[in-house]
Amino acid sequence: MVTSAQETPAAAPQSGGNVDEFEVIVIGAGVTGLYSLYRLRQLGFTAMSFEEGDGVGGTWYWNRYPGARFDSESYTYGYSFSQELLQEWEWKEHYSAQPENERYLNYVADKFDLRPFIRFNSRVASLVYDVDANRWVATTDDGYQARAQFVITAIGILSARYVPDFEGLESYEGISTHTNRWPKEGVDMVGKKVGIIGTGATAVQIIPEIAKDVGHLTVFQRTANYCVPLRNSQIDDETQAYIKAHYPEIFEQCMATPGSFMHMFDTRSALAVPEEEKLEQYERLWAEPGFKKWLSNFYDVMMPGEANEDYAEFVRNKIRQRVHDPEVAEMLVPKNHMFGSKRLPCESGYYEVFNQDNVRLVDVRKDPIARITPRGLQLTGGEEFEFDVLIYATGYDAVTGPLNLIHIQGIGGEVLKEKFADGPRTYMGMSSHNFPNLFTVNAASVGNFPRSAEPLVEWVTDAIAHVRDSGHQRIMATPEAEAEWVRHMKEDGEAILRTQADSWFVGANIPGKARVLLTAPDTAPVMRAKRADVVANGYEGFTLD
Ligand code: NAP
Repeated sequence: MVTSAQETPAAAPQSGGNVDEFEVIVIGAGVTGLYSLYRLRQLGFTAMSFEEGDGVGGTWYWNRYPGARFDSESYTYGYSFSQELLQEWEWKEHYSAQPENERYLNYVADKFDLRPFIRFNSRVASLVYDVDANRWVATTDDGYQARAQFVITAIGILSARYVPDFEGLESYEGISTHTNRWPKEGVDMVGKKVGIIGTGATAVQIIPEIAKDVGHLTVFQRTANYCVPLRNSQIDDETQAYIKAHYPEIFEQCMATPGSFMHMFDTRSALAVPEEEKLEQYERLWAEPGFKKWLSNFYDVMMPGEANEDYAEFVRNKIRQRVHDPEVAEMLVPKNHMFGSKRLPCESGYYEVFNQDNVRLVDVRKDPIARITPRGLQLTGGEEFEFDVLIYATGYDAVTGPLNLIHIQGIGGEVLKEKFADGPRTYMGMSSHNFPNLFTVNAASVGNFPRSAEPLVEWVTDAIAHVRDSGHQRIMATPEAEAEWVRHMKEDGEAILRTQADSWFVGANIPGKARVLLTAPDTAPVMRAKRADVVANGYEGFTLD
């Protein structure tokens, strides 16, 4: 199933016939794409979404691997725009799993009658701007073409799957898949010899699930992570009623926090409280579900420095306590990056898996994978492994990766992929000079994704309506605003935790990719305020013509 080293852009197809015309093209029908479509239709636009899959859901359509679930509380993740939807939909678990999340997004698509405006099985291969007509021409893999004045790329930040370019990759004769392309019919692993490459947030979710059934599991780890207990549970009736009655407060709280999660930092420093009180708080929060452990903790736990290292050691010791073999435990203890400098994997029984006799952890930093073989893989040191199933939990070419899979050509023939070769060059992640009326909403947010995506989509669709209603034709970032934003990303990004580790946040997981922060260094409230200022100042930083 894994056939190429890395997803490759499709060759630009030939036109198959007539060109359909819309006011706005949305690429993708995931969380952002569905809301963009809903919003555009509310604003009276003709809009069409092109979706590569045969169903809606984006991330929650593709990631069908066992164990895939939210790490945000379910009731903070759903859309907030419809009171009716909020009251109708009942999340069953505090951290809902993929099947329910996919059902939810299907429910949204049906409730708001969005399906007729989605062309499924349609991967956009190219987007070319026709200057004279002021139209973007989108061509899909199957040769279908459509034109629109505006385009929103709602293609996700983590959708371009990455498989390392291992020698012999295509020679493997067993079952293999990247976690992002998990087959709908599932993979039978009962009693099978299974190998999994990677120990990021995805692998940490899948490993405890498959370890229940496999005959033998080998985990190939290059970097140990700070994985923390998710502590998922069912939502009882009383809590359900509370949630439904308190949505406004829940969302208000999310909108006030840096990453749009519902947890507020303790305003005290970990270094300023007595040792006993500090440890009591660490332990109390450790027993809580989800991200509360660090996002409700002393504020400086999530800043580079002494408090961060203090909490990192607390987490390392928690790992050591759970793994019986001290040598294996030490392999699982992260030592080469700061706590919180990567998105923290939430786990449910991950460390206990390594106490099973039929599970082996292999350090591929010490002895890297040399090649994939027809039966399994071989390490550089010569050791060989055979598998019935080989899983690639090897992550994503984040943010710019999905954009680079589309040939996007703007004014003067400028190609976005070339422009972004040294990192994204945008204004606020949304707009790039020479690419008018093109909104790259996938490049603008991290955190509790829908909470930052919803206001962003509102801003973008309002901007499109503003262009229409003010009698203009085009909106585009100025070169000056773009240059200043690139400088801000670089200089202000250097101080934050997210740039401190080699992760997808900075493109460091992809060999040869420029190391730059790929999303804004600002908190979600600051980003919203900056966008509001842009509007208040007459779309400052953009040209409207
Ligand atoms: P990831 O964090 O990038 O992890 C990829 C894994 O593959 C890493 O362990 C990496 O090792 C390993 N790897 C890559 N190339 C390798 C090679 N040549 N040899 C050996 N190992 C190799 O990707 P992910 O786990 O899919 O997670 C990506 C993001 O998705 C997360 O950060 C998170 O934002 C999101 N996510 C969220 C949830 C959720 O709970 N909602 C669940 C899953 C994912 P290195 O670390 O050494 O590079």
